[in-house]
Amino acid sequence: MSEDTTSAISKNVFSKDLLDACISCGFCLPACPTYALTGQEQSSPRGRITLMRMLETGELPADDATLAEESSLCLGCRACETVCPAGVQYGHLLEEWRDEQWSGSKRPWIVRPLLLVANRKWVLRLLGLVRRSARKRPGSEPAAVDRPTLMLGCFERALFPTVSRSLTALDPTISVDPNQGCCGALHAHNGDLEKGRELARELGERLPGTIVTTSGGCAAHLADVIGRDRVVEASEWLLKQNTDTADTERPLRVGLQDSCHLRNGLGVWKEPRELLGRTATYVELPSAGSCCGAAGTYALVRKKESKAILAKKIAEIEAADLDLVIAVNPGCLRQLQTGLRKAKSRTKAVHIVDYLRGRQ
Ligand code: SF4
Ligand code: SF4
Repeated sequence: MSEDTTSAISKNVFSKDLLDACISCGFCLPACPTYALTGQEQSSPRGRITLMRMLETGELPADDATLAEESSLCLGCRACETVCPAGVQYGHLLEEWRDEQWSGSKRPWIVRPLLLVANRKWVLRLLGLVRRSARKRPGSEPAAVDRPTLMLGCFERALFPTVSRSLTALDPTISVDPNQGCCGALHAHNGDLEKGRELARELGERLPGTIVTTSGGCAAHLADVIGRDRVVEASEWLLKQNTDTADTERPLRVGLQDSCHLRNGLGVWKEPRELLGRTATYVELPSAGSCCGAAGTYALVRKKESKAILAKKIAEIEAADLDLVIAVNPGCLRQLQTGLRKAKSRTKAVHIVDYLRGRQ
């Protein structure tokens, strides 16, 4: 794409400085899992940025089939950001792209009910999800400025309520506000950026001081809106607190699946390895840092590609003969549990916080 084309920007879909930052060098191609899947330039970060530029200049109409396909095929894993010499903020570009591509009725139907639930605190309460997470735990008290507060992820409240209970058992100084709402990551990653930011700001106002999270996507989104200094992921927090954990039973062979948003967005990857290394025989999986195919709603929207990415991951875990594979994000945990169950693997997938609680 020539400089002339980018200077003719007219649609205001994208922030100009974000779009102009790409120098089309192609260093990001080997890091991109969807480029590895298809081998097509248009499925690479550079190819997608070219498509974004064509949308911005009107060279492609908004309803172009390739635009629709590629905005959906991208995992949003942000692996491309970590190798980009020009500092392209691809995650922000993707949010702006989906804000256009997935707005209103253009949003994949399967994502819509999830956003509706996350929009309404009363729905969460009605489902009893919040109470299941916050009930009878130490620290289940209203937020206070001088104590860190736990952010209750929507997905985690529904499927893995033990995670928040384990975290407050590991560190009883963490308080919980059971009436908190969604952080808006789901919205920001699925075509409703304004609502996503609004919800993050609201949550930042409701929960004062430091906010501890047990979900990578939520952590990265919240940090982006209210500031990195106020958001800390659970393994970061527990490492800082020097939480007491010990390998008291037979040594376990344990691997890790990174959260893309934690690793590529917030630079958090050493901390969970440090904690696992203290309590088990840690085995680094060859693709621990690559996406598992969960990627928020990706496993629902792009089932075929999600399964293909997961299959490679499960084969690696099987080859490593692990007792446990640890996840630092509920979406990854669900994805790995599904894959391991189908493979009838002896390896179990566990959230890091539940794992550490079990090693106390
Ligand atoms: S996104 Fe970064 S690494 Fe990829 S082509 Fe653009 S400048 Fe190069
Ligand atoms: S976010 Fe992930 S899948 Fe999307 S272009 Fe970047 S590396 Fe590829």
